[in-house]
Amino acid sequence: MKLCFLGTGAMVPTKQRNVSSVLLEYEGEFLLFDCGEGTQRQMNLAGYNRTKVSRVLITHWHGDHVSGLIGLIQTIGNIPEPGTLQIIGPIGTKQHMHHLVRAMSFDHRLTLDIVEVEGVKPEVVVDEKRYTISAAAVEHGIPCLAFAFKEKDVRRFDMETAASYGVSPGPQMGKLQRGDTLTINDKQVTLEMVTYVQKGRKVVYVMDTSVTDNAIRIAEDADVLICESTFLSSEHQEKAEEYGHLSAKDAAFIARNANVKKLVITHFSQRYFDTTPLLEEAQAVFDNSIAAYDFLELEVERA
Ligand SMILES: [Zn+2]
Ligand SMILES: [Zn+2]
Repeated sequence: MKLCFLGTGAMVPTKQRNVSSVLLEYEGEFLLFDCGEGTQRQMNLAGYNRTKVSRVLITHWHGDHVSGLIGLIQTIGNIPEPGTLQIIGPIGTKQHMHHLVRAMSFDHRLTLDIVEVEGVKPEVVVDEKRYTISAAAVEHGIPCLAFAFKEKDVRRFDMETAASYGVSPGPQMGKLQRGDTLTINDKQVTLEMVTYVQKGRKVVYVMDTSVTDNAIRIAEDADVLICESTFLSSEHQEKAEEYGHLSAKDAAFIARNANVKKLVITHFSQRYFDTTPLLEEAQAVFDNSIAAYDFLELEVERA
């Protein structure tokens, strides 16, 4: 499970930063959190095949989070068998997409699966074999979602313990997995005795919002929380609150309250050339914080 920060700036692209998008790669599958203008080119520069994107999770319909969508749709639609692209976003997404795909002239060969989510409280919106995606509404003046990508927990055999009970790989393990109890050397052996649960990793993406319960709830126990930090609290806390944004201090407050393992701050106002002051502000509240920059790649480790 790997993340690549394709754009880490708020509102407008600058020489230094593109606008919002984060790629999540999981077992060969590509998923995008937001798709601001220029995301395609950023993917190209970072060496990711754009036509492999299968899902785009849209937080909200402000331009800096969605204006790269149409280009990406055209690019994917140009390959021989484009398949289906799923787009998950807040209420209003179907209508915005309806207008967007009609704004330009091109062959609509790609199937779009558009999912709208209200997310009054965190809810599961995708349930795949290996992972789930949840969404919850946050507060930004227009419908806006936060997302959680959660790998499912898996039960794994502890080979050493299994061997010590005399359980051999193959049919015996199969029986245990089906819920049978084995009798080996007059001893009863159950699945629980020779296995452990490997916790799934969790990545949470919280963009434009004020501090709100849902942001904390959806981020609970995340391995990585990606969180907007548009402003520096010491300079512009009032501005942050006025525009429905978070300061670096707010982001760290969410990370601490949600008990996450690592915080990555991003979505920086163009007024900050150097993000060190933002990072220092976050670290004062939540130690394990880092500041994202364009093309930062991050492996999501198992705890
Ligand atoms: Zn934004
Ligand atoms: Zn916004």
